[in-house]
Amino acid sequence: MKDIKSYSLEELEKEFADSMGLPKFRARQVYKWLTLGVSSFNEMTDISKELRNNLCNNYYISVAIVEKKLVSVYDKTVKYLFKLHDGEFIESVVMHYKYGHTICISTQVGCKMGCTFCATGKSGFSRNLAPSEMLSQIQSAQNDLGVRISHIVLMGMGEPLDNYANVVKFLKLVSSENGLNISMRHISLSTCGLVDKIYELEKENFQLTLSVSLHAPNNDIRSRTMPVNRRYPIEELLKACRHYASATGRRISFEYAMISGVNDSDECARELGRRLKGMLCHVNLIPVNNVEGNNYVKSKIERQKAFINILGKEGITATVRRTLGSDINASCGQLRRQTLTDES
Ligand code: SAH
Ligand code: SF4
Repeated sequence: MKDIKSYSLEELEKEFADSMGLPKFRARQVYKWLTLGVSSFNEMTDISKELRNNLCNNYYISVAIVEKKLVSVYDKTVKYLFKLHDGEFIESVVMHYKYGHTICISTQVGCKMGCTFCATGKSGFSRNLAPSEMLSQIQSAQNDLGVRISHIVLMGMGEPLDNYANVVKFLKLVSSENGLNISMRHISLSTCGLVDKIYELEKENFQLTLSVSLHAPNNDIRSRTMPVNRRYPIEELLKACRHYASATGRRISFEYAMISGVNDSDECARELGRRLKGMLCHVNLIPVNNVEGNNYVKSKIERQKAFINILGKEGITATVRRTLGSDINASCGQLRRQTLTDES
């Protein structure tokens, strides 16, 4: 069985012509239904029964079925636990802003990177998501909420650059005018810092925003919380970031989860400032979310202010990210982990 939602329109036209001798408009009809997020060929009412049966026998439509849904009473942020065709679970979060609805999607079931502060990292890695499964998260959320999603962040479960080919394919599909047609300028991709893949991504020439999860100003602290730093030390990572920013003209967004007593001293801020000086970038300070079993405590507001001041002196803008959905544990990995624990 073939994954029909991972094809582009051009690929589907060719596939239908080669395998069934169908004219291009048939592929276009099917593609329209797939983009709407239907879960079965029977819903494609303008297609003959014969063709629907034929499609059923050769292709499957990937789905993300709502298994659990939590809605924040504060800001209506919605967190989904989706079930995939093979019974795996992933999480997505929808946030509502003045400028539109943003979805945070997963790119893998679990993650191999093992960052110590992260709930996803703690449950281990199961498998990569197909491009169709990334699309399905958006379509299911849109259909469930009755809104059009306008922005995407690849910041859910998984390391996007560790599933490089599928993520790149997804980005092309989702931004295509034949598909969901979400502009690359409305997409952010967050990585823990797979340096070789950052150079590859640069060559794709996408207009997306690259977010880099830095979380520490030096190798000593970063290697303790983010094992990936032992493979790609901070100097190499920041060199790749500088290269990316000047080649693409796109500002890099550095994520920095502030953990009390770990990475939030004045000295940490000064070191960070020295390293980022002169780069086209912005720093997002995030109060660390406590995840069961790690005892990390959020930094005090006074520490956040000190960081903003010190970084500002080096010409680097920093802001504290607003926390949405705090009552529903909106950061990813926690709901799946809870469900897996409930079941075992
Ligand atoms: N794997 C990618 C994207 C998914 S994680 C990455 O690491 O960038 C999305 C973001 O959430 C990352 O910036 C990650 O560092 C951050 N994050 C993970 N656990 C967190 C926690 N407990 N508190 C605050 N941020 C966290
Ligand atoms: Fe993976 Fe990102 Fe979590 Fe690290 S922070 S374990 S890279 S999902």
